[in-house]
Amino acid sequence: MEKKCFFPQGLSEECGVFGVFDCENAAELAYYGLHALQHRGQEGCGIATTDEKDIYRERGEGLVTEIFSETKLSKLKGNRAIGHVRYSTAGGGGIDNVQPFRFRHYSGDFSLCHNGNIVNSRGLKLMLEKQGSIFQSTSDTEILAHLIKSDARRDRLAVIMEALSMIEGAYVFLIMTPTRLYVCRDKNGLRPLSIATLNGGYVISSETCAFEAVGATYLRDIEPGEIMVFETGKEPCSYTFSEANTHLMCSMEYIYFARPDSDIENINVHTFRKQCGRLLAQLYPVDADIVIGVPDSSTSAAIGYAEESKIPYEMGLIKNKYVGRTFIQPSQAMREKGVRLKLSPVRSLLKGKRVVLIDDSIVRGTTSSRIVQMVREAGAAMIHVRIASPPMKHPCFYGIDTSTYEELISASKNENEVCQYIGADSLYFLPKEALLQAGQRTQMCFACFDGNYPTFLYQSKDELNTERKF
Ligand code: AMP
Ligand code: SF4
Repeated sequence: MEKKCFFPQGLSEECGVFGVFDCENAAELAYYGLHALQHRGQEGCGIATTDEKDIYRERGEGLVTEIFSETKLSKLKGNRAIGHVRYSTAGGGGIDNVQPFRFRHYSGDFSLCHNGNIVNSRGLKLMLEKQGSIFQSTSDTEILAHLIKSDARRDRLAVIMEALSMIEGAYVFLIMTPTRLYVCRDKNGLRPLSIATLNGGYVISSETCAFEAVGATYLRDIEPGEIMVFETGKEPCSYTFSEANTHLMCSMEYIYFARPDSDIENINVHTFRKQCGRLLAQLYPVDADIVIGVPDSSTSAAIGYAEESKIPYEMGLIKNKYVGRTFIQPSQAMREKGVRLKLSPVRSLLKGKRVVLIDDSIVRGTTSSRIVQMVREAGAAMIHVRIASPPMKHPCFYGIDTSTYEELISASKNENEVCQYIGADSLYFLPKEALLQAGQRTQMCFACFDGNYPTFLYQSKDELNTERKF
C-alpha cells in the first residue's frame, strides 16, 4: 500500500517571524529584521505590509538578500508589516509554501505567518475539508487561516482565540489585517517570541537579535498562551487564550538553533551555552592540551569548558562562511579525494595535542565522526569529545528537524557505542538537569532527549516517525 505524507512541510518548519506595527518604512524594517533571523531559515522568505487599505506582499524562494530589492520593498506600502524566513529540509515545497500567506475573504482580508508545528493538523484539516475548505499549500499555517475565516459573522479576535484553543503544538503566529496585528504564542511557550518598541511603534521578533539590527528597545516576551492585539488608534491589548500555561521553551533553541546574541526568556544564548561548557568541564574533566569547538554553534560552550578547566581555548577548526545554499555540493568522488567545504582543521595547532572537542549536539552522528577523523588526520594525539546536550533519542514533532528514530544514532546506540562509532577516545554528554541549571530554569522541553512530549501527539510515535521519512 502506498504510504502517504499528510503534511510534509509542516514537519520541518524551523522558521523565523518578524512584525512591525506603526513604524515608518515598515517593509524596510522587516527586511533588516528578517536578515537578522536568516539563520532560522534560508529556503524562502516573504514580507506582507498594509497601509490600512490593502495588503501587499512579496515573497520568493531564497535568502532575504536574494529575494528583496529596493524596487520590491518600495511596492510594500504602509507602516505595518509581517515577515517570515522559512527553513525546509529536502523537498522544498515551492513558492506556495513560502509565507506570509495572504487571504482574500468577504469577512476581511488578512495575512499570516507562523513558526513551529501543529501536531493535530491532520484531524483539523480533515474537519475543515469536510466543511468545504480547499487547501492551497501543504503548510500547517493554512489551517489557522481556514479556522479564522470559517466564521465571518463574529469578531475576529473571538474567532482567533477559539481557533488557537483548537490548535495543539508549538507555534507563534503573526496575523495582520488592514487595521489590526495579532501576535500569538502557544500555551506551552515552545517557540520564542519577543516584543520591542521603536519610535512610538512596535516590532515583534522570533529572536531579540533582530531588535539590535533595527535599533528597537526590548520590552518583553510574549507569554505562553497570550495573544496581543495592536489596533489603529488604540493601546495594545493582551488576552489569554489558554490558562494551562507552562514555560516549556524548546531546549534546542538554546543549544543549537538561536543566535548567541539573542536573549530567550531573559537568558542570553551565548551565556547559556558557555555555562553548559563550564558544567561539562565540572562533570567530565580530562587531561588535555587544548579545547576546541565546532564553529559556530559550539564556540560558546568550548569557551566555557576552557575557562572552567583552565585548558587553553584554541581555534582548531575554521568554518568557511561562504558555503551557501546555491554552492555546488561535491560529488562522492570529490569527497573521497578529501574535498572539504565547511570546516578546516588548523594543523599547526592540533598536531601532537590532546584535544577536548566540544560540540553542541549529536543528531545522526555523521558530523561528529567526520570531525573526529579530520582532527585526528591533522595530527591530534587524543580526542575527547564533550557534547553540550544529552543524547538525542527521539524525533521532534514540534518543528525542529531532528530526524527519525532510525537516523538518530543515540536512539539505537549507548554512549560507548556512539563513542566507538565517531572514533573518539572518550565521549560524554551533558545531562538535562545541567541544561536547566545553565538556563536558571525549572522547565524546558526535552522531548527529543527524554521522550516526554509536552502535548498530546494525536498519532502514535511510530506513525509520526513514518510520516517524517517522506
Ligand atoms: P549530525 O550528528 O551529523 O546529525 O550533526 C549534528 C550537528 O548538526 C550538531 O553539531 C549541530 O551543530 C547540528 N544540528 C543540531 N540540530 C540540528 C538541526 N535541527 N538542523 C540542522 N543541524 C543541526
Ligand atoms: Fe525542541 Fe526537542 Fe522539544 Fe522539539 S522535542 S521542541 S527540538 S526540545
